[in-house]
Formats: sequence, C-alpha cells, structure tokens
Amino acid sequence: MPSSSAAISCQGVTKSYGANLALRGIDLEVPEGEVFGFLGPNGAGKTTLIRCLLNMIRPDGGNLQVLGRCPQMDSVAVRAETGYLPGELNLDTALTVGQILTLFRRMRGGSVSPRKVNVLAERLQLDQSRPIRHLSKGNKQKVGIIQAVMHEPRLLILDEPTSGLDPLMQREVLTLVQEAKARGASVFFSSHLLSETEEVADRAAIVRAGEVVVSGETSALMRNALVRVSVTLERAIAMEVFDHLPNVWVMANRNDRDLALQVRGELDALMRALAGHGVQRFEPVPATLEDVFLSHYLRMAS
Ligand code: ATP
Repeated sequence: MPSSSAAISCQGVTKSYGANLALRGIDLEVPEGEVFGFLGPNGAGKTTLIRCLLNMIRPDGGNLQVLGRCPQMDSVAVRAETGYLPGELNLDTALTVGQILTLFRRMRGGSVSPRKVNVLAERLQLDQSRPIRHLSKGNKQKVGIIQAVMHEPRLLILDEPTSGLDPLMQREVLTLVQEAKARGASVFFSSHLLSETEEVADRAAIVRAGEVVVSGETSALMRNALVRVSVTLERAIAMEVFDHLPNVWVMANRNDRDLALQVRGELDALMRALAGHGVQRFEPVPATLEDVFLSHYLRMAS
C-alpha cells in the first residue's frame, strides 16, 4: 500500500508503446522531503515513468500516487504543487528569455515575484534579453530549470536536470536541489550521472529495460556493492585459489603477484587465502555508485 508520507509511490506500473514494453511493473517509493535519483541508460524507461507521474501519458496498469493524489484524477492539483523540468524543452522561439520567464511566472498565478526570477537567472548566468532562438542547449536548459523551481513547489520532478550544462552550472543546479530539500521539498530526478546522484540523492533506484533492478538508500547501495581490492604479493599465488572463493573475482592479474580483485561482502575469506604469500599491499577501494550501476548491468549482461 502507498505510504501516506510518500511524495511519489508506484506499484506495478506498466506502459507499452505498441509492442514495446517500456515499463514492466515499476515499484518505487519516494519519501517526502527526500531527494531520489532515478538512474538508467538511454531507453530504460525514465522519461516514460515521469510522463506517467504527470499524467502526460497514461500507464496501462499499476498504481501511481503523487503527493498523495492520483495523477490521472487530480492532475491539476498535482501540477500546481509540482515543478517539472522535461527532458526535451520546447520553448516559443519568438520570445526572449525574459518574456518567456514572465509568461511562466504569470502561469503560476502571480505567486512568484519578478525579483525571484531575476535572482535565479543571475545565479545561472542567464541573459534575459537574449532571444530564445539564439540560445544554446545549455541556456535553454537553464530556462527550464528556472520555471521548474521558481514557485518553490512541494515536489520537483526533473528529467536529467544537469544535461547540457557546464560543470559550474551543474554545481549550481545541484545546489538548487539541495536548497529545495532544505526547505522541505521532495525531489525526483532522472540521471545518467552517477557521481551527482551519489552526491545529492538520499535514495536511488536503477532501472533497466523498464524494471527497477535495485533501489534503496544511496549510502546502503554503495555499502553493499562490490569492493575493489588491489593486492601485491611477495610470493606467487595460484589463480585456482580464487575459484574456491564464491564472493571474490579476479578482474586483472598483471602477473601472479599483482592482482585486482572484486569482493562482495566481507574481506575475511580473501585475507585468509592471501595469508602466507607475503602480502605487501592490500588496498580496498570503496565502491562508488558507478560500481553499483555497472555491477548490475554487467551481471545481467553476462
Ligand atoms: P533517455 O535516457 O534516452 O531519455 P529513458 O530512460 O528516458 O531514456 P524512455 O524515453 O522512457 O527512456 O523510453 C523507454 C522505451 O520506450 C524506449 O524503448 C523508447 O524507445 C520507447 N519510447 C519512448 N517514448 C516513445 C514513444 N512516444 N513512442 C514509442 N516508443 C517510445
């Protein structure tokens, strides 16, 4: 059952485009007040789910709740409390940045001051006098971000928010996400960028071919992930030793003394196997979210 304090709750959401099953039963829950990263490669179904959340398309099956409401039945109320950055933004090319931001501001019913918009434009270094038709992809993205956050909504749904932005502006957008969380808002964003998700997301889900393959607190995902260990031994070790260790994989061995290994769980069994070979170097490298992501993809691809 959906939790009453969930900003977003999905159970068994399915969606097909003809014969293409884009969502194969998505289950996820975004607690209110948290930042949630929705990760996956091209075509995994991220945008499709986001469109269902905002009632831009209808799911074929399953349950969806956004801010405790059904997006299909209560779409106006959901949109009023949500800021949305689409993956592809179509802006009226006849207008300037300032004109379009004024339009967006008025669409929010006068709840946003011109000053607020000016501050955001300055923070994102966006020149409001420029015509939309002359904007680069990154500058269009900034317009999209400003219109999503300007009314300080209870929920931000951002489809690849840092896409097309330079590193400085990416950082500014992540700061906006953190500020939204600090005022109590919830944020759901899709991304290909694992490092930024690791940095700002309390929770993350990895989606593959329309299914969530893993989800949880970002820190727990990394804690439970494979650890890489670099080892240098004084005396050679037979590679068959590792065949008997179920949670250890040899990733690379330059020779039988310098090894790169991957380990799931505790390191005890590996340390016992290495003992007696004169361990000169034993360096476990903590997993990153990228390792988590790749391990899920590589495991499934093999
Ligand atoms: P990206 O990171 O490239 O934006 P995504 O994870 O957002 O990818 P979706 O755009 O949701 O993925 O696409 C999921 C699947 O649905 C893909 O196979 C895609 O080709 C298909 N798809 C998406 N939109 C449509 C559409 N309007 N008509 C037909 N198929 C579609």
